[in-house]
Amino acid sequence: MVADPFSRQEILHTLQSLIRTPSVNPTIAPAEPYGESAIAAFVCDWLKRRGIRASIEQAAPGRPNVFAEIGSRTGPSLVLCAHLDTVGTAGMTIPPFEPRVENEKVFGRGSYDMKGSVAAILAAVAALSQDNNLPGCVLLALVADEEDASLGARDFVRRHSADAAILTEPSEGRLILAHKGFVWLELTTRGRAAHGSRWDLGVSAIAKMARVIESLERFDRETLRRRDHPLVGPASQHCALIEGGSGLSTYSEKCVLRIERRTLPGETPEQVLAETEAVVRESGEEAEIRLLLDRPPLVSDSNSPIARAVRDAATAVTGHKPEDAGVAYWMDAAIFAAEGIPAVNYGPSGVGAHEAVEWVDFDSVVSCARVLAEAARRFFAVAS
Ligand SMILES: [Zn+2]
Repeated sequence: MVADPFSRQEILHTLQSLIRTPSVNPTIAPAEPYGESAIAAFVCDWLKRRGIRASIEQAAPGRPNVFAEIGSRTGPSLVLCAHLDTVGTAGMTIPPFEPRVENEKVFGRGSYDMKGSVAAILAAVAALSQDNNLPGCVLLALVADEEDASLGARDFVRRHSADAAILTEPSEGRLILAHKGFVWLELTTRGRAAHGSRWDLGVSAIAKMARVIESLERFDRETLRRRDHPLVGPASQHCALIEGGSGLSTYSEKCVLRIERRTLPGETPEQVLAETEAVVRESGEEAEIRLLLDRPPLVSDSNSPIARAVRDAATAVTGHKPEDAGVAYWMDAAIFAAEGIPAVNYGPSGVGAHEAVEWVDFDSVVSCARVLAEAARRFFAVAS
């Protein structure tokens, strides 16, 4: 039994062990196929050594989540969620898996995104587990694959339900109530293949696509960027991938463009499709449009019991009220919200997610641990 789960030394030791255990997402960095198995085993063992029932749940073959549960099922239930995977290490200018501590900063791949948060959750749960009369139930969702297809979070919500969730992506101590969604679309224009000399027969699918692109860009500049949300900023769209043509002396028969639209709370994939169809019509060309993937935006009630619990806990622990905020990037929070589980995000501070140098502010990890434990207690008090 650990005397004080919030001891700085204990949390630092845990964080360093997490960084020393590579957990690069194997789908996005196939050259570094570590995956989450080793870190999931480490975390599971860490919890069991503290008397906490923990288990591995395979979100997909070789892609484990760690699940644990403490407290009483008769009271309200709260999920604490962090992802175990990291992006790859290509281009890093610091040793990725040898955590260095300097001026209260802990360096290494995943220190900021988001092993600092994993360490904070573990400390919070270890502290809460010492309470034999916890008036609610904390479910741990330490998930795989957030950096790619969110296999882990999607598997978790299929298996478990709860009254609320706190995601812990780094948020510089702000209370995140909203994030954007995204929609991936594929557009195809058709031309007419002909020998390169046959201007009288050939029609270039690429030239058609150029006019579609012109129209898409105008729509982005003049319409989407003016659609502003108070927490997450403007909507946007960009042309991400393009492919077309079969040879230099052939009029291209087909051109395929893939675009990404970043959506605001309230915007749906159906709306994105309809708007894109209208934009194509405006270009005077024709294109087939196909929806490849969509992930919903998040908007969470700023007065919900979970938002209030986290806000009050952060105010009590840090001495100042956290700012209500939104972020432009997508996170797993929307997956919980889509299942009817109110979700907010609160996490540590640092620099360098997905970058060459990454570090997390250690004080913010320790205070995040305390905020999470305090938020659980406050949530159980108001929700029961
Ligand atoms: Zn992350």
